[in-house]
Amino acid sequence: MFTKTSLTVLREKLVKREITPAELTQEYARRMEELNPALNALISWDTKSALQAAARADLSLPLGGLPIGIKDNICCRGERARCASRMLENFVAPYDATAVAKLRAAGAIPFGRANMDEFAMGSAGENSAFGATRNPADESRVPGGSSSGSAAAVAAGIIPAALGSDTGGSVRQPASHCGVVGLKPTYGRISRYGLVAFASSLDQIGTLTTCVEDAALLLQFLSGHDAMDSTSSLQAVPDFSAELHGGVRGMRIGLPKEYVSSGNAPEVQNALNAAVAALEAQGAEICEISLPHAEAAVASYYIIACAEASSNLARYDGVRYGYRASETSNAPGDVYARSRTEGFGEEVKRRIILGTYVLSGGYYDAYYTRAQKVRALVAQDFARAFESGVQLILGPVAPTPAPKLEAKDMTPLQIYLADIYTVPANLAGLPAISVPTPQGGLPVGVQLLAPHFEEARLLRGAAALEQTWK
Ligand code: GLN
Repeated sequence: MFTKTSLTVLREKLVKREITPAELTQEYARRMEELNPALNALISWDTKSALQAAARADLSLPLGGLPIGIKDNICCRGERARCASRMLENFVAPYDATAVAKLRAAGAIPFGRANMDEFAMGSAGENSAFGATRNPADESRVPGGSSSGSAAAVAAGIIPAALGSDTGGSVRQPASHCGVVGLKPTYGRISRYGLVAFASSLDQIGTLTTCVEDAALLLQFLSGHDAMDSTSSLQAVPDFSAELHGGVRGMRIGLPKEYVSSGNAPEVQNALNAAVAALEAQGAEICEISLPHAEAAVASYYIIACAEASSNLARYDGVRYGYRASETSNAPGDVYARSRTEGFGEEVKRRIILGTYVLSGGYYDAYYTRAQKVRALVAQDFARAFESGVQLILGPVAPTPAPKLEAKDMTPLQIYLADIYTVPANLAGLPAISVPTPQGGLPVGVQLLAPHFEEARLLRGAAALEQTWK
């Protein structure tokens, strides 16, 4: 009944009493039961407590009675938060992530744990210990990742909106592959408290929604400083919806020449061309810019992300919490090694080994220090572009549409290289959004980027694209 219906429309129906919050949750639960077995977008849910929350829903609150899906690495008190890993198979979150607490305070009902790549490491959703998610647009394809379940669930109408996390593109890339809107805010805009850490200097919670308006709506309630996360920003939170439909007339939008590449699939190049035409039709001026260090971004990202992951994931030692191997000697080293060997999947282990290597005594300067220098250069490229007078930057999200499931001919390096257009925003801490384009065939999004804390401008550009294509 509510396939891809926006939060705003659902809210209107609730307020006009066309439907009760309990009926609404019931309807999504019914859809979930029907579609989830094929898609595997949600890996656990608690319909009973969602219905109890719906029965108490306060419709005077801005998100009153609206169900929101939550990626499995974001804590909801009393529910499992497994990060799609055997390592955390029995972990029940003892508290709410700040983002979840804020959604609850605005009246929303967290519903369903969305599938993901284990510990958010991946680009296809296939690294989940609980099985791959399928793309609702074509079930023989991946939905992208790592927020695979969040994107697929929203695209299939299993849930009207969902939280994801974006360390190197994990909200924007699955949004592009599934045909929904994916917003990664500025680093520090949303508290990371209660988001299980992958790479702390890059991680940011983001949203997957059916439209730009919903992205603005959710961001409003998720944003703001949090005493529990010292990297969350003190910046004032503007009204993100106030100028959403202000248009882009007179705006200068930069198109990096490095992003118009022969390596892009024709569908991706077409999507980019369509975005240029749409923005020009709305009165924006598209100008060529250069991001000279674009090519080095992926290498820098994978060194930094793996280094931070190796440190963050050291806490899973089989002693304090998480999986513990049963057959071990009493030697602590044996408990650690076996528990980690059995609890983590292949990709997580690959990254821990890579990260440990780049941080080791003899290689720290050669890899980690250099990667940090490249990170600074990537950030400087963006700063220069914005100083030169462009207000937004336009680019692709991924070089291809969604690949087939189990594309075994891809090496880890080829998979990593496909993150070329998404990781720069994380390295530089910039806000970025993926907006679906209207071409037929497989979904393909385009990306807009804005200066730090200019989400209002970013959303306005995204709304202009969406408007043109309605
Ligand atoms: N594909 C990237 C990676 O595997 C992005 C992950 C993310 O944003 N969580 O690291």
